[in-house]
Amino acid sequence: MEDRVRKLKESLGIPPDQYPVDIVGIASALGVKVYDAEFHNPNISGMVITDRKRVPKWVTPGERATIFVAKGEYPPRKAFTIAHELGHVVLGHVGGEGLRTDLFRGQGLPYDPQAEREANLFAAALLMPEEPFRQVWEAFAGRGIHYVAALFGVSVNAAAVRARELGLEVPLF
Ligand SMILES: [Zn+2]
Repeated sequence: MEDRVRKLKESLGIPPDQYPVDIVGIASALGVKVYDAEFHNPNISGMVITDRKRVPKWVTPGERATIFVAKGEYPPRKAFTIAHELGHVVLGHVGGEGLRTDLFRGQGLPYDPQAEREANLFAAALLMPEEPFRQVWEAFAGRGIHYVAALFGVSVNAAAVRARELGLEVPLF
């Protein structure tokens, strides 16, 4: 996944080690538009639609996919949700109906643990590039995960999961 994300960024002319990542800009460069939405179901954090027939009429035509993200989420959570939904598009998870809905904590409907895990790995690699993340972690983890998370524009939880995946020692927080 690291390689895949690195190549994707290179193809877009984005330095792979740059952070914090402009996730809406990356989505846009990939032909994916992002909108804030108020979902009827308060447990939904995000949704991605590729089937034009299912997209609301006010959405600009000509996009490859449309991502809706819960308006009320705080920015680091939103960034991860957008990156996760973008992962579903890039990794080809959006199925025949062209719609995928994600609940908080990344559970898809219908629940598909493999695809959810891949989308989460994609999002983590996209928002927290391995090399700078390792460097920042080694240099600043002593100040608290909050500090590292803020530098990458992600939640404390996302930073801790990423650190564990990279085999870094995660202090209790
Ligand atoms: Zn998902």
